[in-house]
Amino acid sequence: MSDSDNGLPVSCQCGAISFRTPSSKPLGMAHCHCTDCRKQSTSAFGTSAHWPASKVLPLSPELEQKLAVFTHPTDSGNTKYCYFCPKCGTRILHVSHLPDGSVRETVAFRGGCVEGLDWTGVKHIYTRSAVMKIPAEWEQYETFPGDETKKA
Ligand SMILES: [Zn+2]
Ligand SMILES: [Zn+2]
Repeated sequence: MSDSDNGLPVSCQCGAISFRTPSSKPLGMAHCHCTDCRKQSTSAFGTSAHWPASKVLPLSPELEQKLAVFTHPTDSGNTKYCYFCPKCGTRILHVSHLPDGSVRETVAFRGGCVEGLDWTGVKHIYTRSAVMKIPAEWEQYETFPGDETKKA
């Protein structure tokens, strides 16, 4: 993995938002089946690809001006800042702010708006609320990796 490559193209459905990830390899990816991700993606699950917040933030003033933001509290007491394109509504990335005002160390890009990701073997998380059948051979977790309810 290199931090000095040109990253991957990120864009929304209408093309108004267009920039690049800080590097071509995310720290990790996950298909999340939680109710928030289902609503947000208006689909069976939402995919996140994570990059270090220190490499993504602060967003460039030009990009920040183009993005709209929706905030909501999470179960863990954080506040999630959800950036989206105000023209077409495509969700682009999520930044979690901790109760002490600091920012979580990774930000989550929505996988579908990043080109060139390697989707091989992406794990499924929060499968306890999945609305689809997930083949047993896929890496999956009732909640998230590290939880004792890990299934596979
Ligand atoms: Zn757009
Ligand atoms: Zn989720």
